[in-house]
Amino acid sequence: MIIFSNVSKVYENGSTALNNISFFIERGEFVFVVGPSGAGKSTLIKLLMHEETATAGEVIIDGVTVNNLKQDQIPYLRRNMGVVFQDFRLLPKKTVYENVSFAMEIVGATRREIRRQVPTVLSLVGLSHKAKSYPSQLSGGEQQRVALARALVNNPSFLIADEPTGNLNPKTAQEIMELLNDINKRGTTIIMATHAKEIVDQMKKRVIAIEDGEIVRDEARGVYGYEN
Ligand code: ADP
Repeated sequence: MIIFSNVSKVYENGSTALNNISFFIERGEFVFVVGPSGAGKSTLIKLLMHEETATAGEVIIDGVTVNNLKQDQIPYLRRNMGVVFQDFRLLPKKTVYENVSFAMEIVGATRREIRRQVPTVLSLVGLSHKAKSYPSQLSGGEQQRVALARALVNNPSFLIADEPTGNLNPKTAQEIMELLNDINKRGTTIIMATHAKEIVDQMKKRVIAIEDGEIVRDEARGVYGYEN
């Protein structure tokens, strides 16, 4: 479970990105985070990933308060949290297989675990046949599948997706959303920040809307609610 309790984030230049927000996300939920540019969505995601620290309030992930996490506890947090971005962020000189296996090497998995798990997760995203390809040889949709495989390979409880369909055409975006839906059905909690109105309206998942650093809407089967 993820708990934000009266969380504020004020950056060093004085801009308030989040202003006293509270919500919780249960295990297994699928949540869209929406709102205009500059609303605070990326900041929320950075707090989850512990890339930024809250100025006030508490961010609690599976019972652990991450605000004051010690340096040596961060790898555990990261391991339990897969992340995908709009721009895929694959390593260009590594193959598909290596991009995914590298994520296991970093967390100290054994060679045996890697040999077993990487093919499984590549198969899950439908890319077994591209294992030896390099990112530059793949379409955008395929690259995002690799990023998803990498995010999932350590079996995280949470998948954080920051605008994951932003660089994809509508059909490919749709396929990625179907994959995310499958991943969610297998038990992974998904938190996705997005501007993709059609996707949000069609999926009928929980929607948290942020404006000017505050939650203005939190609906169980919500809609995007803005003109794009
Ligand atoms: P969104 O992802 O919804 O576009 P952000 O979380 O990126 O919103 O930004 C929220 C607010 O915080 C904006 O006013 C933005 O200018 C400010 N902000 C974001 N990151 C930083 C930063 N590193 N330093 C200073 N201000 C920032």
